[in-house]
Amino acid sequence: MSHTENKPPKVSKFPLRLNQLAAAPKVIKAPAVVLKPVPVRPVAAPSAAIAAARSVLRPQALLQHSVDHAAHSKSPSGVGLDSADVRARMVERLRAGGIQHPMVLNAMASVQRHRFVDSALVIQAYEDTSLPIGHGQTISKPSVVARMIELLMGAAQARASSSLGKVLEIGTGCGYQAAVLACMAKQVVSVERLKALHDKARELLVQELGASMRLVYGDGMRGHAPNAPYDSIIAAAGGDALPDAWLAQLALGGRLVAPVEMGSSRQALVVVDHTERGFERHVFETVQFVPLKSGMVC
Ligand code: SAH
Repeated sequence: MSHTENKPPKVSKFPLRLNQLAAAPKVIKAPAVVLKPVPVRPVAAPSAAIAAARSVLRPQALLQHSVDHAAHSKSPSGVGLDSADVRARMVERLRAGGIQHPMVLNAMASVQRHRFVDSALVIQAYEDTSLPIGHGQTISKPSVVARMIELLMGAAQARASSSLGKVLEIGTGCGYQAAVLACMAKQVVSVERLKALHDKARELLVQELGASMRLVYGDGMRGHAPNAPYDSIIAAAGGDALPDAWLAQLALGGRLVAPVEMGSSRQALVVVDHTERGFERHVFETVQFVPLKSGMVC
């Protein structure tokens, strides 16, 4: 037996049934109102501040503006970052900042940096700034990436080569620098100690962008012996000394560029050339990189 069987039926006010609606409401007759004409005063054009305040009070106008903007923009994100012009402007700034090598400038012009950063940060992707990529790490500044690769190219020129040859990168991070290196190298091997970043970089570089490079999940302080020796070695993280493995895996005629701590937590770019006379070391400008750490994190 159902619990509701003996209860009186519920009378609900809403929704109203059709027969309730049929009972027409009483019509109240209001006295006619006579509108007197009001004199019209000429209105001055609103100031910019008033116009701005009004536009805030008209959200539909803003919405229409956004729709128009999105319709004219080249990228689905509405910021036009797919355009080569945005990168061309970044390259002009790199050139003005002293980067000269045409292959480096071309590579910087062709890699879409915004693909490598979080969607909330794409608007800053072509500014000369490092940006967070998660797990306490950062994507390096474009000017620093270009500067380090230009230093590597110096050795390639000395070998009478227009290629960086076989490159070892320590610190794949989001994979941006690996993508730039790939434009100028015969082969790129990039090592990352954080599994989450390694996996994410693999997905973007290999699966989405179709890059052919070797991405290794491992401790880059050991280099990567299976593919050694390398013509170029580049580190994206700075330790207090250069690991022996890097020097051991540097080919004769090859060059290594890495940030190294110089005391009182200051880092500088260090260049090491492997020559017939041994390893020749030069110290360049001060830089700021995330720390080089040993071991792997899964
Ligand atoms: N080239 C990267 C920069 C990433 S930041 C880019 O374009 O985004 C430096 C990276 O070095 C970090 O992801 C950090 O996890 C990694 N790293 C630090 N020590 C490492 C080590 N011993 N081996 C491999 N990667 C290391």
